[in-house]
Amino acid sequence: MIAVDLGGTKLAAGLVGRDGAVSRRAVEPTELTSSEAVLAQLERVIGAVGDGDFAALGAGIPSGIDQRFGRVVSSVNIPLAGVDLRDRLEARFGVPVWIENDANAAAVAEHRFGAARGARHVVMLTLGTGVGGGLILDDRLYRGAVGSAGELGHITLDLDGPPCQGACPGRGHLEVLASGGAADRLADRAVAERPGGDLGRAAAAGRVVDPHLLVELASAGSGDALDVIEHVGFLLGVGISDLVNVFNPELVVVGGGFAEAGDLLLEPARKVVAERSLRPAADVVEIVEAALGPDAGLVGAGLLAFDTLDGG
Ligand SMILES: [Zn+2]
Repeated sequence: MIAVDLGGTKLAAGLVGRDGAVSRRAVEPTELTSSEAVLAQLERVIGAVGDGDFAALGAGIPSGIDQRFGRVVSSVNIPLAGVDLRDRLEARFGVPVWIENDANAAAVAEHRFGAARGARHVVMLTLGTGVGGGLILDDRLYRGAVGSAGELGHITLDLDGPPCQGACPGRGHLEVLASGGAADRLADRAVAERPGGDLGRAAAAGRVVDPHLLVELASAGSGDALDVIEHVGFLLGVGISDLVNVFNPELVVVGGGFAEAGDLLLEPARKVVAERSLRPAADVVEIVEAALGPDAGLVGAGLLAFDTLDGG
């Protein structure tokens, strides 16, 4: 089965087996200049990796999708809003196509082969530049009325908070306060306010101040970097405590690039959830790091392509 994971920075494609194994992989920087450019790239990469021989196609897209029409309705980081992507890819390749929000696809992969294996009620959050979300409820991906459920990055933490990222009209959302992008902004502020601190000195030495540097410095004991990660972890925990109250999940799985912070990020979140969520939901929930790393979206897209063939 061929799968693609289209992100705002890179496009990954590969063959995905029923066991979730990925082979014949291709990764390229995403062509963001226009809708036609990204579609042309998508079709070229699928054609090359699939080599004319595949039974179905699954695509993970960082977008709001209307599954009634297989249409990308809103898209913050890639120029695909308004594109009838499912029909277009089906016409181009002549096979069944399933398109899915990328965090939903990641949730499916973690549920079947990753950290959430065996769990029936799972909240998945992917922390990158933004925050993606996916819900496994009663053992199935929950899609809502038309397929756009699970935008968990866009719950409100602060009514008067900063405007949300990209095309989101909200303010003070989880995504703008507790993502890798938020950590970036806090780190930049620390550099500006304390040039003699660990982050300030790393920046002066030419290091790129990003979540990766934060994790590296915090792991080595930097209080400056740890403060930023713990603050983001606290806000993440506030968001998760709401999700625990609403969904009573067994597991909250945290993936995406910033999940590399591991317990530095998750321990403050666990503490908030223990303090603020209602019992008994708070007693049973576990908050864990995702297991499949950056492949989760790709694997999930492939598994959903199998589901399409199987009539699922
Ligand atoms: Zn938002």
